[in-house]
Formats: sequence, C-alpha cells, structure tokens
Amino acid sequence: MSTKTQLAVIGGGPGGYAAAFLASDLGMNVTLIDLEKNPGGVCLYRGCIPSKALLHVAKLIHEADEAKKWGIEFGEPKIDLNKLRDFKNGVVNKLTGGLGQLAKQRKVNYINGRAKFINSTTLSVEKTDGTTEEVVFEKAILATGSVPAKIPGLSIDSQRVMDSTSALELNDVPKKLLVIGGGYIGLELSTVYSSLGSEVTVVEMLPGLLPGADRDLVSVLEKRLKTTLKNIYTETKVVELKDNGDSITVKLEGAKVTEPIQTFDKVLISIGRKPVTDGLGLENTKVKIGERGFVVVDKQLKTDDENIYAIGDIVGNPMLAHKAAAEGKVAVEAILGHKVAFEPNAIPAVVFTDPEIAWAGLTETEAKQKEIKVEIAKFPWAASGRATTLDRNDGLTKLIIEPETERILGVALVGVGAGDMIAEGTLAIEMGAVVKDLELTIHPHPTLSETMMFAAELFYGHATDMY
Ligand code: FAD
Repeated sequence: MSTKTQLAVIGGGPGGYAAAFLASDLGMNVTLIDLEKNPGGVCLYRGCIPSKALLHVAKLIHEADEAKKWGIEFGEPKIDLNKLRDFKNGVVNKLTGGLGQLAKQRKVNYINGRAKFINSTTLSVEKTDGTTEEVVFEKAILATGSVPAKIPGLSIDSQRVMDSTSALELNDVPKKLLVIGGGYIGLELSTVYSSLGSEVTVVEMLPGLLPGADRDLVSVLEKRLKTTLKNIYTETKVVELKDNGDSITVKLEGAKVTEPIQTFDKVLISIGRKPVTDGLGLENTKVKIGERGFVVVDKQLKTDDENIYAIGDIVGNPMLAHKAAAEGKVAVEAILGHKVAFEPNAIPAVVFTDPEIAWAGLTETEAKQKEIKVEIAKFPWAASGRATTLDRNDGLTKLIIEPETERILGVALVGVGAGDMIAEGTLAIEMGAVVKDLELTIHPHPTLSETMMFAAELFYGHATDMY
C-alpha cells in the first residue's frame, strides 16, 4: 500500500502532534506516524503527565502530614497502589485519547507504526497490524524524541533496575530505593517514591543537584529534601551494580563516601536522555547528526536535507515538551514559506519538586560563566504574606537585570507554585520588559505572584509594605 502526503510527521509527541495539527489547520494534507495507538509521545505516556499525576498525590500526602503542625491530624496514609495506578493511567488515556480525537477531527492521517526513510521523499512504515505502508511525502518533520540514557559499562539485566519509564509504571513501592542522577527527573521521581513510603537515597556525580539551576535556588530545595530523603550523595559515582535476587548491591565511589557498599531493593537510573536517531534510515537521506547525537538543524528547523525538518528532543537541549511544540509550529510555518525562525529569548524550565524550582532566560550562573554584567534583585518569601498563610516561607524570587537598560534578562524562582509563576517572568523577558514594568503592574493580593513585584520594588530600594 502507498500513500501520498504533503507533510509526513514522524513521531507523535508534543513536537510532532503540534506540528501535524497546525499544518492541518493551515490547509496541508498531513500524515502523522507513531508507534502508539494515539499521539502523545513520551510527555503524555511516560513523562510530563504521568509524573505530574503522581506528584500531585505526593503533594497531598506531604500536606496531610504537615497539617499536624496546624492541629489537624489525618493519620498514616493507606495507599492502594492499584487505584493510584488506575488514576495515573486514566489521566494518560484521557489525554492521549483526546489527542486521537483531535487528529481525526482535523483529518490528519494517523498511521500506527514504525517509520524509516527509504530516501528523501519516501518512508516505509512497518505498521503495528503487521503490514507495511509506503508514504511518499513532499516534506517531512522528524520528531522521534528521546529515550533514557544508560550508564556505560553498568547496564545489568535486572527487574530491580528501573528507568523513568518503568518507575512510572509503579509496579511496587520498594522499601529502599537508590536514585542515580540528581537531575529533574531523578528528583521528581524521588519525591513521588519517598511520599509513597520508600526510603530514598540520591546519588549525583556532580558537586550539586540540578546542574544548570542557580545554587541559591537549589539550596532551598536541598534543605527540604534532606528532611524527606534518606541520603543525598553528591560528587559520588555508582561503579558497580549486583542483583542478589532479593536485593541489589551497589558500589559507590567518591571522596565523601563512608559506606561504599550499600544494598537497596531497587535502583532507578535517571542520568539523562539520548535522542532517538537509530533505525530511522537517516543514512538514506542527507540529514546530519552532530555533537552528542543530536540532528543538526538551522533556525527554521531544516536539516541538511531540504525536504526534511527536525524538532524536539532530537535536535537538542532543553529537552522539554513546550520547546518541542514551539519548534514544531516554526517548522510548519517555515515549510509553508512564512518568515519565521526559532529564536526564543526564554524557554522556561520547571522542576516539579517540593518546593518547585523554575527559571527562564539568563541564569545568574550563566551570566557569571559568560562574564555578562548583571544586577540581581532577590525577594525572599519570608516576607510574603501569602507564603506565610501557606506556612511555606521557603521560597525566593529573583530577577536578573541588565544594568544599563534595567531590562529583565532572566527570572528564577524557588517555592510552591513556582512552575506556574514563571510564565509571568517568561512573558516579561520576551516582551523586553524593564524592572519598572513589573514594579508598576498591580499584582493581586495576597498571592505568590506579588513576589515578582516585590523583587522589582527591592531593586529600586522601595520598601515593600504589603504583607
Ligand atoms: P517525544 O515526546 O519523545 O515523542 C517521540 C515519539 O516518536 C514517541 O511517541 C515515539 O514512539 C515516536 N517514534 C520514535 N521512533 C519512531 C519511528 N521510527 N516511527 C514512528 N514513531 C517513532 N518536559 C516538560 O516540558 N515538562 C515536564 O514536566 C516533563 N517531565 C518529564 C518527565 C519524565 C519522567 C520524562 C522522561 C520526560 C519529561 N519531560 C518533560 C520531557 C518531555 O517528555 C520531552 O521533552 C518531550 O516529550 C519531547 O517531545 P518530542 O516531540 O521531541 O518527542
């Protein structure tokens, strides 16, 4: 069987489905190919969405426990893992099913199978029903995403070793869990498992958790994590894993390690993700793979093959769903000849831990590394009325400012709800707002969003007198 299409999109994640839907809305004949029954990709099936459903439950468990301080006692939580799994799967099915419907409504030709390039205008798709379909396209967008990276020389075939995908399946709650990797995925899943009752130890090779985030934000999170996690070992490497049948023994290496051999019930490896470029027949096209395995694209997301564009996790960092979707839209418009380029001033990043960490634009760390002169305005949440009503003063709002123009180059936050609040900062950066704009914008009281205005007031030395 052979199909002709104007646009073939390979991969139905946030990048792929955003591109396919926009292209269809703009009048193109679109074929979207993915291995799953419905679009959604890693984000909906094995990433953002299931993890946030479980983090919501984790938050509830923590809050119920904290309520003791306020004179309300709920008792020990009783966790029905089957029901919790059903809730999480229900969320995933609802959203992916919804995307399937949207694809149908838009008349996107959805093919369920694995695509491979035969040449620069033809794909061969091995469908899940066992048949093969040829798709002849005018243009293609490659959006095959990423998969968990493995630790070289340390992969053992064991049910006791999980990656983020199997950890989200929530097969059991191990009594003792080791999380290898203190990045955002490792810390979010540590939060989930510790709230469900696991005793969690985190090991990070680098000197601090969340490399990339400013240290003053991370130290606020770290302080709280120390009360919920068993151990956090930084500058520590796992050099050996051994499955004992009923447990797993690990060997740790690092200057600060006092107990190098430790035993756990399960190990979660979350050391990063690698782009999916193997098995796609890219050798039959002119698409080039660059540094660290990412597909090389220009600002219009075009690869070295003039018929093929690439977006999302396969083209580089940050590997985030909203970046993939934004790139998908630019790629479609570029294909249609619109004057567009992917040149954001700020891509927000959120770590959905407790407290959350979020930043957009230039970070203080980056400014130091690149020797960019900046001024910093910081508002500690100890002085926020809203944070006090929540009994969560462990927060900080930070503005990174260009001294001459007072333009906001970066915004960074730690605290409950930081993930939602960063949108205001992102808009401020994208619109070229100056600190005065934030100071003069009336923010609702009492909210955490006020801390953006308070930080701006502090920049001018104006006392904040609203609690
Ligand atoms: P993907 O979502 O990876 O989708 C690629 C699709 O391509 C997959 O469905 C795959 O099946 C398909 N595919 C691969 N090869 C082929 C082939 N040959 N033929 C057909 N189809 C193929 N990001 C956020 O922004 N916020 C978060 O909170 C967040 N949380 C995360 C939590 C976890 C645990 C993980 C693992 C990731 C998280 N991410 C988060 C990252 C986010 O999931 C990715 O950045 C995003 O999914 C990338 O989108 P994409 O379109 O590039 O590809």
